[in-house]
Amino acid sequence: MKILVWNEFAHEKTDERVRAIYPDGIHATIAAFLREEGHEVLTATLDDEGCGLSEALLDTVDVLIWWGHIRHGDVPDAVAELVQKKVLEGMGFIALHSAHHSKPFKRLMGTSCNLSWREDGDYELVWTANPSHPIAAGIDRYFKLAHEEVYGEPFDIPEADETVFLSSYEGGEVFRAGCCFYRGCGRIFYFQPGHETYPTYLQPEVQRVIKNAVLWAKPTYRAPLACPHVKKISP
Ligand code: ZN
Repeated sequence: MKILVWNEFAHEKTDERVRAIYPDGIHATIAAFLREEGHEVLTATLDDEGCGLSEALLDTVDVLIWWGHIRHGDVPDAVAELVQKKVLEGMGFIALHSAHHSKPFKRLMGTSCNLSWREDGDYELVWTANPSHPIAAGIDRYFKLAHEEVYGEPFDIPEADETVFLSSYEGGEVFRAGCCFYRGCGRIFYFQPGHETYPTYLQPEVQRVIKNAVLWAKPTYRAPLACPHVKKISP
């Protein structure tokens, strides 16, 4: 499989706490544990030419992983439109943590994707809501993140096609933390953990979920978007 990990790569350049956890960027950490699975993994960042994304490249990519937060607005609309098109044509898409507000994810959902949030160092419990789902393979009844940003309901997304994980927090909030969507020929997974100041992507359970998710999101069928005028058949 060919995976592209895209990161806005902003906090790591300006915040010492983030750089201490992800010295080469969040994208490099995610790419490294996916390469352990034998995948071909590329990375791209916001400041690359054209955000490091082109139609020719995405036509060869099975699954695109997206991490963004403070620079969503700097992603050109044309790039978001390209990602949406490629998902509709069959490419897998995984939106991590604050990518709930990324342009490609919002385009694919068609809603605000707003949620309630606070950052007080709460612990998070990620509960497996659907243990038979392939993205939950190898994950126990729940796992705990010592510290995460709280994302709470209401989460303004369309009803998920499959809900794999639900999270609860020290303060009592709950959140649909792992959600699957089908759009066109493509598969989309949103996964909540991953605030930049915590070592979330170093935790084995989080890595397992993302490793499972790329396998689930792998294209099963790809075709260019078309709305053909056809001839009547003669059965
Ligand atoms: Zn965050």
